Amino acid sequence: MHYKIYIFTFLTFILLVSCSTTVNKSYEKEISIAEKKEILVQKKILINEMAKASVRIHEISWPILLSNREKCKNNKKKSYGSLFADVNDLPKEDKKIFLTLFNSNIDPRYFYKYQVDSFPIILSVAKDSPAHHAGLLKNDIILEINETNTQKFRKKLLFVLESEKNLKFKILRGKKEIKVNMTGIKSCSYNVQVLPSGSPNAFADGEKVFITMAAIKLAQTKDELAFLIGHELAHNILHYKNFDASEANLLAIDYLDKPKIRQIKSIIVWSNEKREIEADIEGIHLAFKAGFSLENVNDYWRRLSVFNPELIKKSVNVYKSNAYRAALINKTLKKLKDKANE
Ligand SMILES: [Zn+2]
Repeated sequence: MHYKIYIFTFLTFILLVSCSTTVNKSYEKEISIAEKKEILVQKKILINEMAKASVRIHEISWPILLSNREKCKNNKKKSYGSLFADVNDLPKEDKKIFLTLFNSNIDPRYFYKYQVDSFPIILSVAKDSPAHHAGLLKNDIILEINETNTQKFRKKLLFVLESEKNLKFKILRGKKEIKVNMTGIKSCSYNVQVLPSGSPNAFADGEKVFITMAAIKLAQTKDELAFLIGHELAHNILHYKNFDASEANLLAIDYLDKPKIRQIKSIIVWSNEKREIEADIEGIHLAFKAGFSLENVNDYWRRLSVFNPELIKKSVNVYKSNAYRAALINKTLKKLKDKANE
């Protein structure tokens, strides 16, 4: 009798175990499929947010770069003032997302005609730039660059900005094909980009300027962002000096691009208190020259102090404090405005 019970219990146990593993396996499989879908959703949000923040930054940085062009006399490359998204700005695995976000309205015959699997798109056209004067618009699709197809778009763009007088596009707007011919101008072509990071900060590496997504979200006015951009540009202009930046490398949706050590000598340019104060003062001059009044930029530092109260009295890194910074900004601005009113 006991023997039979044992066998029964054992068989029930086996049955239960195998049943629960099947349930677990299919459960796991469903989660894994949902996870893959969710990865696409999150990447799409990331790329969209990168594009949106880059457009916001581009509108503010262009006038600062243009109105301070005499500070970048070594720059031999032309500028046109438009911001692009190209499939190669993203890792290969994100190609489908690029096509969904930026190439979904293109008639399939264009891919066949030009023998390409994607087309670059205009994300933003800066006011009073050559691209603006030539009539280029946001969301224009680039079919041709200087009479060739758009394969290796950034490489071709870099070549044109370095060596050609004119940048010529054939673009697709709705169903219309339009030819656009632009003459480049001299500007400071440092690339001001977005860095996806949750901590409000900004960086300069001699060629690019990175403003973190958190800083862009924390800033509430164009003036606040203009101050941040001005400060980092001032590091590039005053402390790095060597000029090798090109608008062709301005990457709006590349969420993996980061500040880099671009030259060995950059290591000696790393921040110290004196350089930070210099960058604050020069940054204010750069942004003011572009027409930003910078009236309430100290609100940014006050807001930052709400999240990081330790910054009120003493910065964690090399800078004095948020309060010192606000005082310095006020004094520099007052001097500038008095001089402007003379
Ligand atoms: Zn700095």
